[in-house]
Amino acid sequence: MIVEALRGAGRPVSAYELIDQLREQAVLAPQTVYRALDRLIATGAAHRLETLNAFVACSHTRHEGRAVFAICESCGTVNEFDEPKAVDCLAAWAKRAKFSVREMTLELRGRCNNCVAGDEASAGARRSARAD
Ligand SMILES: [Zn+2]
Ligand SMILES: [Zn+2]
Repeated sequence: MIVEALRGAGRPVSAYELIDQLREQAVLAPQTVYRALDRLIATGAAHRLETLNAFVACSHTRHEGRAVFAICESCGTVNEFDEPKAVDCLAAWAKRAKFSVREMTLELRGRCNNCVAGDEASAGARRSARAD
């Protein structure tokens, strides 16, 4: 039920937003929701975005606690991308350092393609042609 609600949201949501969304189906205690989210995170079906204090359904085949997100600070769009090389590289480093990784979620913050394109369109008139 919770993973369906996460998928349906299509954006990161907080545990309390989930409880609100599911209110018509069931009255859930926050503890129940957090426990369920922990399980989903452990199996890779969902990820926690620390900087947004929100949860999001995994948009790829499940990967246990490893994910890379690009978070647009202008429009709030969150994109999960599949970058196994990046996480493998960090996992290899952790192994060498004998660091036991429980969860690995990388969050890139900045501006999405749409927002950058919007900026460029408005700046286009002022910009001089670039010499290659
Ligand atoms: Zn994922
Ligand atoms: Zn954006």
